[in-house]
Amino acid sequence: MSKLYDVIIIGSGPAGLAAGLYAGRARLSTLIIEKDKDGGQIVQTAEIENYPGGLEEESGPTLIDRMSRQADHFGAEKVLDTIVDMELEGKEKILTGKKDTYRAKTVIIAAGASPVPIGCPGEKEFTGKGVSYCATCDAAFFEDFEVFVVGGGDSAVEEALYLTKFARKVTIIHRRDALRAAKSIQEKAFANKKIEFMWDSVVKELKGDGLLESMVVENVKTKELTEVTADEEDGTFGVFVFIGFKPESEVFQGKVEMEKGYIVTDPDMKTSVDGVFAAGDIRVKSLRQVVTAAADGAIAAVQAGKYIEENE
Ligand SMILES: Cc1cc2nc3c(=O)[nH]c(=O)nc-3n(C[C@H](O)[C@H](O)[C@H](O)COP(=O)(O)OP(=O)(O)OC[C@H]3O[C@@H](n4cnc5c(N)ncnc54)[C@H](O)[C@@H]3O)c2cc1C
Repeated sequence: MSKLYDVIIIGSGPAGLAAGLYAGRARLSTLIIEKDKDGGQIVQTAEIENYPGGLEEESGPTLIDRMSRQADHFGAEKVLDTIVDMELEGKEKILTGKKDTYRAKTVIIAAGASPVPIGCPGEKEFTGKGVSYCATCDAAFFEDFEVFVVGGGDSAVEEALYLTKFARKVTIIHRRDALRAAKSIQEKAFANKKIEFMWDSVVKELKGDGLLESMVVENVKTKELTEVTADEEDGTFGVFVFIGFKPESEVFQGKVEMEKGYIVTDPDMKTSVDGVFAAGDIRVKSLRQVVTAAADGAIAAVQAGKYIEENE
């Protein structure tokens, strides 16, 4: 029979690694199960300016490398596997992976989420080099530049309004001829002189040489293609994509309480099931960032330790 861990953490993004560090340091036997490579979403970004203490040049991979080594240093074990099923009720939690089965007294779900991409050629290549999915993270890099926001829902229009504090001009590219955002948000956008609109339009391709320099936009009604190029002096522009955000929560459906696909927790990261905690982007929260994911992970690990003490 497999080892019974004190804590098993699903996911090794910032939330999972912080939980691993805190659990390991509290001398709890800890296993982090990750389906891909360490780091989660943040390894996609070449520059992080808003993680406290990171004034010097910091990239997603360098930050994650330190977080990962710190979790190792305090004894958290790691395994590469994908959790596909689980039994969470009862004192002993059983997690089924594609490769193995794991047992734990407590489980911390830190499986994260991810933005829905446009899915056009060039998008991957220019992520972090013009293409972004997070205005809070990247707006400051576009001070006085021109930016485009893809999407027409609440978050797209709210982020467009936020971007007007930095960018010279913000154009919302939307596939329909009317926004889906709440009326009050729409009114603010229509009243903002920095915001323009490209209706009935979708981005078909992103192009450039190292940095994003142009994009092809299609009018979905006329099928006409327009090439949008960067202002000559700027040399580049930003494309912020807000067409959805998907929690990695399918496998947890029916196991813990959820709201719109996100796991519901209390302020101590406790889910609806005893001994099961959730941390980071996968839970219902108002700000999805590395700093909040790490904080969630720390709280979840401390609470997992308390749960074990109280239940032994
Ligand atoms: C391009 C980009 C740039 C960003 N820039 C910034 C920034 O500058 N500053 C900032 O603060 N935030 C930034 N963010 C947001 C930040 O990355 C997230 O808030 C943070 O990564 C959330 O951490 P997490 O640990 O909750 O989840 P994630 O980072 O999503 O990690 C979850 C991990 O769980 C694993 N996993 C999922 N399901 C399973 C399973 N069934 N079994 C095993 N493993 C599983 C995944 O493979 C993943 O590694 C950015 C996000 C993106 C996409």
